[in-house]
Amino acid sequence: MKKKKGQVLVNTGNGKGKTTAALGLALRAAGHNMRVLVLQFIKGPWMSGEVKVCRDLACIDIEQLGSGFIKFEQGKLVIDHALKKEAQKALAYAKEKMMEGVYDVIVLDEINNMVDYGLIEANQLVEMIENKPENLTLVLTGRNADPRVIQAADTVTEMKEVKHAFSRGIKAVKGIEY
Ligand code: ATP
Ligand code: MG
Repeated sequence: MKKKKGQVLVNTGNGKGKTTAALGLALRAAGHNMRVLVLQFIKGPWMSGEVKVCRDLACIDIEQLGSGFIKFEQGKLVIDHALKKEAQKALAYAKEKMMEGVYDVIVLDEINNMVDYGLIEANQLVEMIENKPENLTLVLTGRNADPRVIQAADTVTEMKEVKHAFSRGIKAVKGIEY
């Protein structure tokens, strides 16, 4: 078996666990003294536990990009020019971090959604994967991963929703959802 130095992993699907699995991998890598960066493309209205703990322990760098809270009106994403510009700026920043060669692992959290929403082109992401430094591991999370991104990745996991407390009216819970 060939040993690949850096890999591309995709966590997608409708079930819960995409971001938390990526954070688990980040923790695992950090435990081996690897340098890890988590870039969150979409942030919720709450301060998440992962941001707090990473800042406190300083073993994983974590940054939330853009204004973060994507707006929906009547279930539809409101995409305006400013949002698109912001997404492109965030992507350029991620590329810059990738090419710096400082990190061993970079998690691009919710990047698949950005493609799904039309804020980032799938081929921009594929190009990024193809140009990544050899030793870098990239983890891409988010629903509806584009087939071209899936094709370009080494390991793809689809989280399947069997059931979710949310559909019984249970709201986002601290420590579980954020
Ligand atoms: P997590 O961050 O818990 O690993 P995720 O990254 O798989 O979840 P996202 O698609 O990023 O899930 O969704 C963001 C938020 O929605 C999280 O608070 C998550 O717990 C919640 N969520 C995930 N899956 C579902 C679902 N099937 N129904 C309702 N809410 C969900
Ligand atoms: Mg997520």
